[in-house]
Amino acid sequence: MIPLAEARAHVLAGCAQLPDVRVPLAEALGAVLARPVVSAELVPPFANTGMDGFAVQASDTVGASESAPVVLSVVGTVRAGMSGVDSPVGPGDAARIMTGAPIPPGADAVVMVERTRDLGDGWVSVNLEVAPGTHVRPAGDDVRVGDVVAPEGTVLTAGHLGVLATVGMTEVEVVGRPLVGVLSTGDELVADGRPLAPGQIRDSNRLSLLALLRSSGYEVVDLGLVADDEAAIEAALVQGAAACDALVTSGGVSMGDFDYVKVVLDRIGRMRWMQVAIKPAKPLAFGTIERADGRTVPVFGLPGNPVSSMVSFELFCRPGLRRMSGRADTDLDRPRVRAVLDAPFARRADGKVHFARVVCRFDESDGRYHAASAGSQGSHQLTAMAGADGLAELPDGPSLDEGATVPILLLDSALGL
Ligand code: AMP
Ligand code: MG
Repeated sequence: MIPLAEARAHVLAGCAQLPDVRVPLAEALGAVLARPVVSAELVPPFANTGMDGFAVQASDTVGASESAPVVLSVVGTVRAGMSGVDSPVGPGDAARIMTGAPIPPGADAVVMVERTRDLGDGWVSVNLEVAPGTHVRPAGDDVRVGDVVAPEGTVLTAGHLGVLATVGMTEVEVVGRPLVGVLSTGDELVADGRPLAPGQIRDSNRLSLLALLRSSGYEVVDLGLVADDEAAIEAALVQGAAACDALVTSGGVSMGDFDYVKVVLDRIGRMRWMQVAIKPAKPLAFGTIERADGRTVPVFGLPGNPVSSMVSFELFCRPGLRRMSGRADTDLDRPRVRAVLDAPFARRADGKVHFARVVCRFDESDGRYHAASAGSQGSHQLTAMAGADGLAELPDGPSLDEGATVPILLLDSALGL
């Protein structure tokens, strides 16, 4: 067995960053910016009001109160989308104004509509003294021309897409993200819902792995289910490598397997077959296929047991694919927290780090995260994986007591992630 860190380093070394691409902003969520975005525009582009009300000269409101309102002449209405130049505000004037509309020439403050009363016939009374600048959002108070609104390396979130749209970007240069092909292998597998014959089970890994990839922002190619047949496996892998930037297979990597995945990958790729000191997901194959066009396609050979394939995805695939997508070395995994175990966790010293499926919660009363088993921990028992919020990292050694603190790798359902 090799340590987890060694297997991970080997995987990362085979996952080169993809070339930069230009994509429409709407397709850039989750991508890594390849160069900084510098604003050529002011945001907001003009001084505008943050409130519905009346644009005034602040000096006209001096002394105004509920008991002593001032009366001003209404010179016009400025709605969002208008320029405001038709409603200049002189001394004694007020312009009706809606949120987002430009401050008309001459005005320097806005009185919110709640502190005014429409007197009719073009007059309004104002019962509040306002200082210059009240409710005025100056031009450029969010972004100035020349500001770096997103540095190179930014992982684009919904908020960033909004900022980039605000400064007028419609396309953006990002690091390419891998198109990932997923293949299931095994004579025992059935994928079409038909009744199971003796010895058969249903293919679940392909669905889980495709879903993990999609929910992580990768485009996928479903390479289907292939029997333990050398020619069929070779055809699927060659076709997959030609079409995709990375391949994920499941099954056929254990010791003593009936193993054509192994035979074929060893022939068409440069593979390393590993036994990693972890439980579940001990077997792992990783390597690369060189394509005719010179591109190198990483191949993740994940174990077949359903929990193992998903755990292996988190420990090896996700970091590798993130590396290809330009994510920083410190940003290759899902977030981790430390949590208190709410019940003992049984294990033996076996030279392996165990990744237990747990349910996490944040306890308001002690300000700490807590974790408890999500159910049966066998590597074939997928229901506990489905119900889990996290993978608790149990170091090699004896059982852990209630109250022990362990790192938790947070999964999809945890804490709104
Ligand atoms: P293998 O890695 O091929 O030796 O498979 C290990 C275990 O995982 C066996 O019990 C397989 O039947 C099971 N298995 C392999 N592939 C899948 C799959 N795609 N879906 C569900 N179970 C699988
Ligand atoms: Mg198999």
